[in-house]
Amino acid sequence: MARYTGAVCRLCRREGMKLFLKGARCFSDKCAIEKRNFAPGQHGRDRKAKIVGYGLQLREKQKAKRIYFALEGQFRAYYEKASRTPGVTGELLLQQLERRLDNVAFRLGFASSRRQARQIVRHGHVEVNGRKVNIPSFQVGVGDEIKIRPNSQKLTVVEGASEFASHQPAPAWLSVDRAALSGKVLALPKREDVNLPVNEQLIVELYSK
Ligand code: SF4
Repeated sequence: MARYTGAVCRLCRREGMKLFLKGARCFSDKCAIEKRNFAPGQHGRDRKAKIVGYGLQLREKQKAKRIYFALEGQFRAYYEKASRTPGVTGELLLQQLERRLDNVAFRLGFASSRRQARQIVRHGHVEVNGRKVNIPSFQVGVGDEIKIRPNSQKLTVVEGASEFASHQPAPAWLSVDRAALSGKVLALPKREDVNLPVNEQLIVELYSK
């Protein structure tokens, strides 16, 4: 299964904003955006040309892909499916990204970042409706119960993330039982539930050209 394996802080630096890809480090003064908020590479400090039109659309797409750790082929497949489904294409695209099992594990506070959530899913620590699911892109549906498997509940990464998340409420479309390390999908996520700095309309414009 292909995945991005490069340095992640440079992704934030390319977008010029915190994408929160590294958990607790993102909230510390070690964050690369705090220390070196310019684009990576030899010409990163050069004066930037104003980004307009296609450039803006491309940056929005790259930003969304990077936040959810989706690769181009899979991201385009999400768009194609959203465009074939009745409704607002941009919102349906974000909804599919939010419904990924790795994102849901992160939203429930079982991991401190989507990247870490992807790893705990891949390593078989998560079950859906009582069955192990190790596919990070698995789409959860309304009524699904997502849980850390019994033998994995004492994992340091899970305990640490759960403690960190205990200070934040779960999104409205999910319910969480922190003691049992389980959660449930109450409804499909709406645009206002996503709460990310992504202009999905620009992504739709890019792909629909
Ligand atoms: Fe981005 Fe987090 Fe790295 Fe900061 S520490 S640059 S927010 S991934």
